[in-house]
Amino acid sequence: MSASPTRNLWDTVRRTGRARGGSRHRDVQGSAPRAAVLGAGDGLLTNVSLVLGVAGASASGPAVRLAGVAGLLAGAFSMAAGELVSVRAHDELMRREIDVEAEELRTDPEEEQRELAAMYRARGVPADDANTVARILSAEHAIALDTHARLELGIDPDAVGSAGAAGVTSFFAFAIGAILPLFPWFFLSGVGAIVASIVVGALAACALGATIGAFTGRGVGRTALRQLAAATVAAGVTFAVGTLLGTHAP
Ligand SMILES: [Zn+2]
Repeated sequence: MSASPTRNLWDTVRRTGRARGGSRHRDVQGSAPRAAVLGAGDGLLTNVSLVLGVAGASASGPAVRLAGVAGLLAGAFSMAAGELVSVRAHDELMRREIDVEAEELRTDPEEEQRELAAMYRARGVPADDANTVARILSAEHAIALDTHARLELGIDPDAVGSAGAAGVTSFFAFAIGAILPLFPWFFLSGVGAIVASIVVGALAACALGATIGAFTGRGVGRTALRQLAAATVAAGVTFAVGTLLGTHAP
């Protein structure tokens, strides 16, 4: 096949791109679980406060369950929508950059080939070899575009288009965190449910804090305590406000 040298070289470029992009991809994969844990932390903090705030006003099961479920859904949808919008905006930005590059390749392919050779020279490839590589990779539009996107724009075209998945992940991450302090209220009521909510909320705050600490490498114990402190302050304040409003409300 006449396209064979181009394809072979492209494979090599993509493999090296993937080795580099591979480490970038690990970062992306590393940041997806991190985002999920942070989302679960948000859900937990929100609903620990909400559940105990309502429970402070009136420890009736139906009222607390309604508030907890509403808080879970409102927060999860809000997180998902925010993530969807921001990832989609980023995708559109990258697509527009790739479109501009495609147009340049169509209108002035010689200049783009010189540009590609210059990028390889800048990476330490001897001039003759850089010219050869640039000429071979410029022979096919799709391959030339992919190479320019990676080298010139620093964009991995394969990584564009994951807004839906990011939104769904955010939704479930928040929901999982939010369900924890609400869970006891499906089986218990009154003081027993309040105590169970506090215990579950405290344990989950420590576990999530420790996990965040493991991701960021900032010390598991410290982040666990910090998360617990945040949950305690938030839940303590809303419980106090709930108690005041509950006893003084007509
Ligand atoms: Zn270019």
